[in-house]
Amino acid sequence: MQNDIGLIGLAVMGQNLVLNMANHGFSVAVYNRTTKTMTDFVGGLKDEPKDKVWDGTIDRVNGYEDIKDFVASLKRPRRVMIMVKAGGPVDGVIQQLQELLEPGDIIIDGGNSDFNDTNRRSKEIREAGFQFIGTGVSGGEEGALKGPSIMPGGHADAWPHVKEILQSISAKVGPNDDIPCCEWVGEDGAGHYVKMVHNGIEYGDMQLICEAYFILKHALGLTNDELYKVFKEWNEGELASYLIEITRDIFTVKDEESGNDLVDQILDTAKQKGTGKWMGQHALDLGVPTTLITEAVYARCLSGQKDARVRASKVLSGPETKFEGDRDQFIEDVRQALYASKLVSYAQGYVQLDAAAEEFGWKLNNGNIALLWRGGCIIRSVFLEDIKKAFDKNPELENLLLDDFFKTAIDKAQPAWRRVISTAVNLGLPVPGFGAALTYYDGYRRDRLPANLLQAQRDYFGAHTYERVDKERGETFHTDWIRER
Ligand code: NAP
Repeated sequence: MQNDIGLIGLAVMGQNLVLNMANHGFSVAVYNRTTKTMTDFVGGLKDEPKDKVWDGTIDRVNGYEDIKDFVASLKRPRRVMIMVKAGGPVDGVIQQLQELLEPGDIIIDGGNSDFNDTNRRSKEIREAGFQFIGTGVSGGEEGALKGPSIMPGGHADAWPHVKEILQSISAKVGPNDDIPCCEWVGEDGAGHYVKMVHNGIEYGDMQLICEAYFILKHALGLTNDELYKVFKEWNEGELASYLIEITRDIFTVKDEESGNDLVDQILDTAKQKGTGKWMGQHALDLGVPTTLITEAVYARCLSGQKDARVRASKVLSGPETKFEGDRDQFIEDVRQALYASKLVSYAQGYVQLDAAAEEFGWKLNNGNIALLWRGGCIIRSVFLEDIKKAFDKNPELENLLLDDFFKTAIDKAQPAWRRVISTAVNLGLPVPGFGAALTYYDGYRRDRLPANLLQAQRDYFGAHTYERVDKERGETFHTDWIRER
């Protein structure tokens, strides 16, 4: 038996990727630490519905109880994809594989690994004589089966050996549905970095949508039926995206137990798995202001303090949440505020990508990255096309906000954006995402910020020195502030 590729880790993502590969004609060897999971999966394929298992798929999935037999069954150079729990388990499996593989064989980590781990593994695996790809895979279990967005990075010389398989199974976009949402991203941990930024942007998009919902619900008192109509309309315009679409549909679902709308029965404490947090942490390491996404992480943290919030709600006061004005105009204003904030969020995400590329020496193609996210993944939207066009026009663009399309869009949305934020503030409704976006915009567009005073303070108490507006950059000065007073 000569399998095209092997996959280790048969939880939900692994199983669906295997089916996707086999559905596309590749023979796949499968192995799992717990053998029963493997035998149940392979044995159960004959009972799967046709939309999951295509003709011939079953014959192309071959299970192995022993990892040695699994490795021995692969065509050379061997390609082994790992889909196990991120962290230590990935290192454990890599160690096992290194004892069985031959020089030039390729290990692919498709889990949600921390890019720092991928940077390290990339080096270690190269030194051990093997090739390594660390790839982001987005789209959840459905994407894994029907076509995920795939963001591969690692050893460039391994890419030609895995390109055909990964591009075949990825989501496709374009007028003929033939452009794969899978393209080489860059060296070492670049693929997992791009996936982390994707997830961070996902955090930001979700937070912005939630803020729009909260304002419409509490300022205008919209019912879930009315919210459904608003989101339906928004999904037909420039906000059209997977997340707006599923939000629209959420408002239609009833809770079987209570008969109420399900969304109202859900406890308001958000969970997180870590990639949004990693992005915020690395933004701080790089010294780049990825404020909106980091605020989105904090908003989840605050939501998690449910008991404390309930206690505080009985003590702390704020304004009455009652809106007086043109309701239809306000709904349109909220749409524009959401759109403008989203533009800023993507601009910030790309600034962080550029900073990371410089830090690690990656040559990222920003336009292609937008293309990878156009299908298969959670942040897929029509708007990514505009990002692609902006970077195609100017690959060196230092900030998306400087592109004509973005500038015009923000100029148009700006009055509404400011109205919504000031209304929310006056009504006492929290808008951390909208606010962070506008504050960044207003800071970024100013040639002078109050940091002159900040530098004076630093120099006053710590002799940290300052630069002067009328001298060469880099030349530093110190004042004895106490004596000069
Ligand atoms: P998971 O729950 O993260 O991991 C379960 C798999 O890991 C099982 O096959 C398990 O084997 C194996 N495993 C755990 N510890 C192991 C160890 N020490 N040695 C060997 N194998 C070990 O599975 P998942 O949800 O399918 O996700 C797989 C990867 O894809 C993760 O990195 C995840 O973050 C990423 N991802 C998930 C999604 C999603 O929507 N779920 C989306 C994108 C990316 P046993 O059966 O023996 O326990």
